[in-house]
Amino acid sequence: MIKKPFFGLRKPKLKYPVEDTIKLDSINEIPLPLRVTLLSDNNERSDDVDLKVGDKVKTGQLLGLSEKDGDYLISTVTGTISEISQYTGYFGKTCASISINAETEDQWDEEFIKAVKAPASKNCVKFLRRLPGAPSLSSVLSNESSVKTIIINGIDKDLLTVTNQLIVKTGVESLTEGVRYLKQITNTDRIIIIVPPDLTYQAEKTGAEVRVVKPLYPNTLPHIQMKNIMGITVPPGKSFEEMGVCFISAEAVTALARVFNSQEFPIYKRLTVINKDSRTFNVRARIGTPVKDILNTLDIETIHGDRLIMGGPMTGNAIYSDEMPVLPDTDAIMVQDKDQIIQSSDTHCINCGECIRVCPAKIPVNMLIRLLENDMFEEAAEEYDLLSCVECGLCSYVCMARIPILHYIMLGKHELSQLKMLEESSE
Ligand code: SF4
Ligand code: SF4
Repeated sequence: MIKKPFFGLRKPKLKYPVEDTIKLDSINEIPLPLRVTLLSDNNERSDDVDLKVGDKVKTGQLLGLSEKDGDYLISTVTGTISEISQYTGYFGKTCASISINAETEDQWDEEFIKAVKAPASKNCVKFLRRLPGAPSLSSVLSNESSVKTIIINGIDKDLLTVTNQLIVKTGVESLTEGVRYLKQITNTDRIIIIVPPDLTYQAEKTGAEVRVVKPLYPNTLPHIQMKNIMGITVPPGKSFEEMGVCFISAEAVTALARVFNSQEFPIYKRLTVINKDSRTFNVRARIGTPVKDILNTLDIETIHGDRLIMGGPMTGNAIYSDEMPVLPDTDAIMVQDKDQIIQSSDTHCINCGECIRVCPAKIPVNMLIRLLENDMFEEAAEEYDLLSCVECGLCSYVCMARIPILHYIMLGKHELSQLKMLEESSE
C-alpha cells in the first residue's frame, strides 16, 4: 500500500484575487424570503418525533428530527411548517428537508437564552454546532476533548471567495470578542488565526496567534495548513480533531461573540456571490433562503444551460435547482455562463503526467483514475492512495483529456464509505 506523506506543492499556484474585487462598503442585504428551507446533516426524519406540517415555530427554535440519532435543525424564521420531505443531494445522499413559511416579525424562542447560560452544557453545544460557518465545536467543548489547538480561518479555502477575509477586515471587534469567548469556553492551549498578508494588522488585534499564508491556492485548504503551519500530516481516515486540531471559520467566531453578547441565535449567513463575469458580491441572507431569491435581488439572470455552484470554482458542487437553500456552511454561490463551461469528456487518459505534477498529495493520479473509471474503489485506496486525496481539484483543472477526475475521486470515497457502513452493520 502506498502511503506517501504529502506535500510537495508544485505548479500551478492559483492566485487569489482577495478582497479588492468587491466593494467593502456594500453588503447586499437579501430580504426575508417568503419561505426558508432547512436541510439536516445526513439523516432522514424518523417517526419518533412529533414534528408536522402546520406546526408553528419560532426563530431560534430547535426542531428535533430523530430522537434515536439526536438529529435536529434550528429554525431561522418565525412561521408555519409547510413541508417536510427528503432531499437527495450528491451521490444520492439523502437528508431531511423542512420548509417554513416565514412571517415578517420574528418571535424568539427562549430555550436558546437558557442554553447559553451554561456554555459547556449539551444543549448549548447543540446550538453552537449550527452557527453560521458550521463550526465543529462539539469536539472542543467536550471534557474528554483531545483538541489542543484551534485554527481560525481568516482566508477562504476556495478561489474568488472572500467571505472570511471580509469578516476579518471589517469585523475585528467581534472577532476579538469571539476569540475571548473561545478561550473561556474551551480548554485549548493555542488559538491561531490564519490570514493573507494584507490582513495581518487586523489579525494582530484579535488576541490570537497570527500566521500569514500566501494567498495562493491550494495553500488555504485545511490539510495543507495542517502541514505548513502545524507540521502535521493527517493520515488517511483520521480527522483533524483526532490530530488535536480544530478548524473554525472567522465567521463562526464572530457568530460566537453574538451568541454570548446578545443572547440571540445568529440566523444570517454571509457569503460571496460570483457572477458569470467573475464580478463578486458580498451578501447577507437568512440561512434557508433559496438561491433564486439571492440571484433576483442581485439582478443576476440565468438562462437554460448556465451552471449554479454551491461553493467556489475549485471545490464547489453544481446544484440542479435554484430552490437550493443557503446552508450554515455556504460560503459562496457561483454562476457559470453556459458558454464558459468546460465540458468533461469520456476521452481516455493520454498519460501527459500533468495531474501528477500538480497533486499536493503526490498521488499517481493517472493510475488512480484508471481504477476509479472501472469501479475498482478498494483497489484504488489500497494501491494508489485514494484516501490521501485532499480534494483540491487541481488534477481536474489541468487534465488535458478533460476527465472529471475530482468527481471520480469523490464518488470513489463515497462508495468506500458505503461499503464500510455495510460491513459494520453486518458485524
Ligand atoms: S484532487 Fe487531485 S490533485 Fe488534488 S489532492 Fe486529490 S488527486 Fe491530488
Ligand atoms: S492529466 Fe489527465 S490525461 Fe494527463 S495523465 Fe492525468 S489523467 Fe491522464
